[in-house]
Amino acid sequence: AKDHGRDCFQFYTSVMHQHAKARSVLESALHKALSNRELSLVYQPIFAQLGSAEVVGCEVLLRWKSELLGHVSPEQFIPVCEELGLILPIGEWVLYHACSQAKAWQDNYGNPLFIAVNVSSIQFKRQDMVELVKKVLRDTKLEAKYLTLEITESVLVDNSDKILAQLKALRALGVELAIDDFGTGYSSLSYLKRFPLSKLKIDRTFIRDLPEDEEDKALVSAIILMAHKLNLKVIAEGVETPAQCMFLKGLLCDMTQGYFHSKPLNQSDFEENILTTAYH
Ligand code: C2E
Ligand code: CA
Ligand code: CA
Ligand code: CA
Repeated sequence: AKDHGRDCFQFYTSVMHQHAKARSVLESALHKALSNRELSLVYQPIFAQLGSAEVVGCEVLLRWKSELLGHVSPEQFIPVCEELGLILPIGEWVLYHACSQAKAWQDNYGNPLFIAVNVSSIQFKRQDMVELVKKVLRDTKLEAKYLTLEITESVLVDNSDKILAQLKALRALGVELAIDDFGTGYSSLSYLKRFPLSKLKIDRTFIRDLPEDEEDKALVSAIILMAHKLNLKVIAEGVETPAQCMFLKGLLCDMTQGYFHSKPLNQSDFEENILTTAYH
């Protein structure tokens, strides 16, 4: 039994060692990602549900193709960026490029889409997001109302006056705020009235089993009713089928996003497939 214990221990430390090694490779690769130009952006269109089903905006999603590691998914590298503080320069880069892309599309296609940018809670805690957004909007000449910042419940649970003050100032500039992944975080709903939000994105885990799952049907229709009473526009995420889309339309969901309409696209595919076709 003793030997067995020692084998287990050795196995364990070896796994931990490998894990630590993989982690440090990831970290050092990430440090070079920005300067090596390994990061890029893709854009997923967001469609209005009511009236004509036209594209009204898009969400910007970060992609990393590492020279050393190949494609790494944001679910793997964003948390590491947050821990290392790299999310500050990377987040700034994303915001800048997203806004200048949106402005260029408006100028070139006459299509006033909103652009939604994901912002991590670390950015609000360690940076003056108001000054940054002001500077980026000034430099890119994008009107504030076309920028939406997507924040998760983790930004709001903090309950810090510092974050609330930043969100209010951003709202006063005309920037829109969306609560992302709604329903997956903390259960308190009080932040919905305390924070100056304008959109609510229902997490795709609630959409996945529509329109069959009775619980999800109840939850999604209740979320939409509640959001509308609070004057929030609703976006359903992860819409993959026509049946889901129709069901959401029946519930007066304002906008949908997901593979049913389109996967996230690079700049030229977005221009070809979305901006120059008969969607509008
Ligand atoms: P998110 O903000 O919830 O973004 C939506 C994710 O759902 C994206 O994954 C998108 O590709 C995926 N998706 C879209 N439609 C569908 C669908 O119909 N079905 C399914 N199964 N998935 C769909 P992605 O691009 O891998 O991004 C993952 C997460 O990484 C994002 O989740 C967001 O939290 C984070 N992220 C991505 N880009 C950034 C960024 O620039 N900054 C920050 N802070 N976080 C980012
Ligand atoms: Ca998002
Ligand atoms: Ca989301
Ligand atoms: Ca998510």
